[in-house]
Amino acid sequence: MVLSDYVNTFGQYLLRRYRERVHKLTINAGFTCPNRDGTKGRGGCTFCNNVSFSPNARCPPPVATQLESGRQVIAKRTGAQRFIAYFQAYTNTYADIQHLASLYEEALAEPDVVGLSIGTRPDCVSEEVLDLLASYQKRGYEIWLELGLQSAFDSTLERIQRGHGFAEYQQAVVATRQRGIPICTHLIIGLPGEERSHNLVTLDRVLELGVEGLKLHPLHVVKHTILAKQWRQGTYQPLEMSTYVSIAADMIERTPPDIVYHRVTATASMAILQAPIWCHKKWAVLNAITAELHRRNSEQGEKGSVQGERGAVQGERVKKKVKRISDVSGMI
Ligand code: SF4
Repeated sequence: MVLSDYVNTFGQYLLRRYRERVHKLTINAGFTCPNRDGTKGRGGCTFCNNVSFSPNARCPPPVATQLESGRQVIAKRTGAQRFIAYFQAYTNTYADIQHLASLYEEALAEPDVVGLSIGTRPDCVSEEVLDLLASYQKRGYEIWLELGLQSAFDSTLERIQRGHGFAEYQQAVVATRQRGIPICTHLIIGLPGEERSHNLVTLDRVLELGVEGLKLHPLHVVKHTILAKQWRQGTYQPLEMSTYVSIAADMIERTPPDIVYHRVTATASMAILQAPIWCHKKWAVLNAITAELHRRNSEQGEKGSVQGERGAVQGERVKKKVKRISDVSGMI
């Protein structure tokens, strides 16, 4: 019993597409964030760790050097020979277009890099950047735009000091989809003032607009954040693991099976994680989500959402395909 028996995972999507293992290599290209530098705000999101904005964190090694160290680790661990360069840290479209192109193209110049995944905020997606990414896609590269939305509720986004609302996400999605660039939207479970129903409504709004991929994260309380202060004062209560697992399973069931889950949980280093401590045990959470879907005799797309009809039709096809591949390779 593995997660990919129940969920259309990114690993399995890449395996179907490339017929071999393809792994993401994480890049920190030294960007900052408009919610930090004063353009949108100075304090940043309430859960964002201040230490990560230290000068050292913003002077990382060159992209090619980071790819080389990442590929050595991953190749030894998994045998993967091809990679996606994942520009993950901070806001990876927040610079002038020449600088962005030079960083992205440094990664694409590596012969074993098949594409890019670009993490950013919905209010930092210019037409210029989208045209640049679309030009890479036309050259045959695998391109994903990863949009941090977290919640579709403006009241929540305000409460966590995101510095943008749902409207910016809508605009970014329309412009990105006009160019045919796949989007992976990041959502957080356990945000202050939210409960299960908020996550399900957020999911419905995201599906209604259209999306190709999703990432689910539990809200971490990490050191040196506003959230950590709220947690110490007792005004923020983190989720129990069982609640996270149950909400994640609800969301997976409501997601059409052709949408790719890039992640269904996330972890944080024990050096900074304060709560909930179960977030540190990624495999325990993944196994619990798998077990929960198994217990429900359910899978991705099982329950209708706004796209329920479509999900029901495609569910069997994707399930069989995913199952067949996992049977052969034993991959997750
Ligand atoms: S948008 Fe991202 S990098 Fe910027 S403050 Fe929020 S969490 Fe931190």
